[in-house]
Amino acid sequence: MKSYEIQLGQEVYHYDVIYKRMTSLRMRVKEGRIVVSAPYYTPRALIEDNLRQYQEKLIPLIQNYESYACYCDQGYVDIFACRYVLVSRDVGKWQCEKHGQSLYVYHRQIEQCVEKYLKQVLLDYIEEKVIAYLAYDFDLDMPHIEIKKYKGRWGSCYYQQNRISFNLSLVHLEKDLIDYVIVHELTHFLQANHSSQFYQEIEKRMPDYKQRIKRLKEKHV
Ligand SMILES: [Zn+2]
Repeated sequence: MKSYEIQLGQEVYHYDVIYKRMTSLRMRVKEGRIVVSAPYYTPRALIEDNLRQYQEKLIPLIQNYESYACYCDQGYVDIFACRYVLVSRDVGKWQCEKHGQSLYVYHRQIEQCVEKYLKQVLLDYIEEKVIAYLAYDFDLDMPHIEIKKYKGRWGSCYYQQNRISFNLSLVHLEKDLIDYVIVHELTHFLQANHSSQFYQEIEKRMPDYKQRIKRLKEKHV
């Protein structure tokens, strides 16, 4: 990967180029930054022509990007799409507590302390949901559920091991989007792949799943 700068309008933007075996150029905005995938040996001038041509699409995506959390005193974290202000109260405990729209953090290592809390919040939510889905929609044994930090995926189903992993970043999203990921992963116990039968199984249990996928795609992992 190579990183460059380009002036678009009044601002200078950074962009990354990943050269690949491909036939045409692709541009996207990832975590507030432009990422270009380009065939090997594509001249920079051509890449920059494309960036200028599509700047009206790219710039709003960069400007709208806002991360789910800013881990510092008086920073913030989104939990189930609600924003909480972080208030640091270091008493050496690995604990957090909600008070209204604030989240009190009782350890000076704010990020680690909040993440430990978020992991538990997400695990509690998912376990409760999975139990409900197993009671009504899926005839399965309770899988082992784990929460991990992943880049680029919301969840993984290890159906042979009866285990599902969920991305910790889900905790920042609306609950109906988390529910889609839960149903998606549970459905892998019925269909291992992403075939049309797989999506038929999802549709039976979640008729509006397509809208949820669309909204989920707008979120960054
Ligand atoms: Zn899948």
